[in-house]
Amino acid sequence: MSPTRKPGAASDHGPPDAASPWLFPGPLPAGRPARHRDPALPEAVLLDRDGTLVEDVPYNGDPERVRPLPGAGPALAALRGRGIAVGVVSNQSGVARGLLTRRRLVRVQQRIESLLGPFGVWAVCPHAPADGCGCRKPAPGLVLAACGVLGADPRRTVVIGDIGADVEAALAAGAQGILVPTAATLPRETAAAPRSAPDLESAVGLLLGRSATVGPRP
Ligand SMILES: [Mg+2]
Repeated sequence: MSPTRKPGAASDHGPPDAASPWLFPGPLPAGRPARHRDPALPEAVLLDRDGTLVEDVPYNGDPERVRPLPGAGPALAALRGRGIAVGVVSNQSGVARGLLTRRRLVRVQQRIESLLGPFGVWAVCPHAPADGCGCRKPAPGLVLAACGVLGADPRRTVVIGDIGADVEAALAAGAQGILVPTAATLPRETAAAPRSAPDLESAVGLLLGRSATVGPRP
């Protein structure tokens, strides 16, 4: 990740741009692993951050409080090992609420990358729910922006997240969604998800064609 490389908008102290997500592109194409050519695999997998990759600590700006969820490391390694681009799509309304600065957000992202490896893009919505932006999940903006950076077709992209908004954002962008429920997931969100899995490794196993336990359907 390179936080100084043309992020979407705003300084550390100014308000976030009214309409645009913050984009933090990953390594340059020359530094990326070769992209697979298997039509059965997604081109990209976009992961929600809080409650999916790491424990959900509301408005966290402290790298020391980053705790990867069990299975996140192996799941990401499996995706990267198959040449699938990985990115993060994350609502961070703490920025708009004045609880989180861009600098602290980036420090947390760097800590996550130090623990879980590099991502091809971080697409972050810094807005509040009432701002009316097009990027806050369940709107499709983060997913579409991340696909743009990765050069991935949204129709061949999968979003994995822990709440209904993650899946809804995927579907609104023309992508697929997989729900990995946590204690924060509402029963109606689990019921509405087209696909679900009990944990991140199982979700990735579904994508890679390995046997995995699919979560309960209504
Ligand atoms: Mg989440």
